[in-house]
Amino acid sequence: METLLRIAVQKSGRLSEDSLKLFKECGIKFINSTKKLKSASHNFPVEFLFLRDDDIPGYVEDGVADLGIVGENVSAEKQKEVDLIKKLGFSKCRLSLAIPREVEYSGVTFFEGKSIATSYPVILGEYLAKQGVTCDIQEISGSVEIAPGIGLADGICDIVSSGSTLIGNGLKEVEKIYKSEAVLIGNKNLSAEKKEILDKLTFRIDAVLSGKSNKYVLLNAPNDAIDRIVSLLPGMRSPTIVPLATEGWSSIHSVINEDEFWDKIEELRAAGAEGVLIVPIEKMIS
Ligand code: ATP
Ligand code: ZN
Repeated sequence: METLLRIAVQKSGRLSEDSLKLFKECGIKFINSTKKLKSASHNFPVEFLFLRDDDIPGYVEDGVADLGIVGENVSAEKQKEVDLIKKLGFSKCRLSLAIPREVEYSGVTFFEGKSIATSYPVILGEYLAKQGVTCDIQEISGSVEIAPGIGLADGICDIVSSGSTLIGNGLKEVEKIYKSEAVLIGNKNLSAEKKEILDKLTFRIDAVLSGKSNKYVLLNAPNDAIDRIVSLLPGMRSPTIVPLATEGWSSIHSVINEDEFWDKIEELRAAGAEGVLIVPIEKMIS
């Protein structure tokens, strides 16, 4: 029987759509019916299991699934023995401490002797221990943000992305304690055959992720500006330079990292670049 890598993804929630999109961008075709428990690909040796995110680290540790996608927060909270293979760049959020808006906050010692409601007792416990603060951690599994309002706790520790849920519940964020994004985790004892499939998969994921973090740049420049412009462009190896029909002008093509993009554009224009085009890259293999 053909060896299949079993990948656990969240059945429905904030990770589901981007997880499945990543596999599609890797060229892996499958029937996406999250009504089913599992779905095999017909063009790549993987099978997807659709599960609650909380169960994924445990299933990956046990080998029920070979790989899984979860938030780092869930992976850290569950303390399972799994490999962190790769950060995936989506579902970015943080765990923060928050207290009622009207309460004055003086620093993390505010929490000494107080109670904090959270679904993340492990991450919170580690943070408080590091800060030397002793609290009563109230573990609750959902709707953490209503705890102070009903007198269950003085503060909360919960996931924040924009902060609007906190504001809607009369709370203010006072400490950011943990940064998270989606990660690919793997079982620690994959067979050689499964490792081989994993290598093919991570090769594709890397190509997709570096495509996303880079842009293809095309620009025109007078020939006497080429040297300066080329010195500003890193490129994958060296930029491509093509003569234009207009005498004395060339078109220069290269790749720029998204993070340095706006700074570079200004420098390039100052160096004489014109007609700059920025094009998204679908995949990039270095
Ligand atoms: P399940 O039903 O599978 O247990 P859940 O309700 O526990 O789902 P979700 O709310 O779907 O979980 O969140 C899944 C993960 O997505 C979180 O663990 C976190 O890593 C990330 N996440 C949560 N909220 C946000 C947000 N507002 N923005 C970005 N990422 C988030
Ligand atoms: Zn969950």
